[in-house]
Amino acid sequence: MKVVLQNVTKIFPGRGRGASDTVAASNLDFEIPDGELIALLGPSGCGKSTTLNLISGLQKPTSGRILFGEDDVTDLPPENRGVGLVFQNYALYPHLSVTDNITFPLGNLRGKDRMSKAEMKQKAYEIAKLVQIDGLMDRKPGELSGGQQQRVAIARALVKMPKILLLDEPLSNLDARLRLQTREEIKRIQRETGITTVFVTHDQDEAMSISDRIIVMKEGVVQQIGKPQEVYDSPANLFVANFLGTPPINVFSASVKGEKLYIGEDCVLDVKNVPDGEVWAAVRPEGFVLDENGPMKCALDRVEVMGRDISVVSENENSVNPVVRSIISAENRVDISSKTVRFRLKPFKTLLFDKKTEDRVFFGDDK
Ligand code: ATP
Repeated sequence: MKVVLQNVTKIFPGRGRGASDTVAASNLDFEIPDGELIALLGPSGCGKSTTLNLISGLQKPTSGRILFGEDDVTDLPPENRGVGLVFQNYALYPHLSVTDNITFPLGNLRGKDRMSKAEMKQKAYEIAKLVQIDGLMDRKPGELSGGQQQRVAIARALVKMPKILLLDEPLSNLDARLRLQTREEIKRIQRETGITTVFVTHDQDEAMSISDRIIVMKEGVVQQIGKPQEVYDSPANLFVANFLGTPPINVFSASVKGEKLYIGEDCVLDVKNVPDGEVWAAVRPEGFVLDENGPMKCALDRVEVMGRDISVVSENENSVNPVVRSIISAENRVDISSKTVRFRLKPFKTLLFDKKTEDRVFFGDDK
């Protein structure tokens, strides 16, 4: 089922005299295609949960419309929208078994949808098998690991076969290893069921690794929507460039003169079709090539071994970040006794942004 948001805005009125309103979501206007897994990504407070709550119906938009397929659901309460919800704190019933937790939403089905106890148990078992907890049906939540509890919560959200599955930071309470494992599980379950899924996270790694498409938000406004690789390779603005990628992108205060990019005195790249002026130049860590005759000079700080790669940590007075982090193949040899290190820049890993608006400035034949 596709989900369409048309000019959706949510404003929370300020409380008390003089308190200003909060625009938690501003003019959201996008379509989530049927069967895709979408990540809503952004820093704390950017409006991710609000967007999810607007889709679920837990919150009503101040203006705009929400459609599921061709149906306008803007005024429908959550229970009539056919959505499954999973929150960060799994909110399982501690005194109920896994089976009873999963079947709980089936208890209030009425009319032709009403199920017998045996049918419910069978259904719970089928869903539990999908999320691989079918061996734990008689346990209570307190007897399960965090990852297992989260799977019960997902099973409970899936048991009524929702049209849309909504997950709000579902992995936050899990330790690093379980997070990795559970996010793969979510991807697998989503693929197997084909349910359109929206996943809220502030973790760019999580968003990049499992989603078909990422929606990046800042202060209630969508910054960019795209496939993970597209958003990484071609960020719309400096905020998106900074938000995606570990280690983060290296940002320099730079200038353009005669279609050449300068970082300080170093003329580092040809940038055809860019007018003269100040810019932000951002280079992905993998965008540096060690080259003793390279145009960019940095003060060598240290070399960190990462196995397959090495990270050359250096300093440059035009860098916005305290250090410049480049990632290069471990086959390269770096003379750590040397005070300086020189690089060449890969053009397609170097991005320019307007100094004021911070929007992308394309160069060469890019667009
Ligand atoms: P986090 O990652 O910290 O959960 P988020 O991106 O999900 O953040 P939201 O919870 O959607 O952000 O909040 C967006 C903005 O709306 C914040 O400034 C928040 O303080 C405000 N907000 C959220 N809910 C309410 C509410 N019920 N009343 C007033 N303001 C609210």
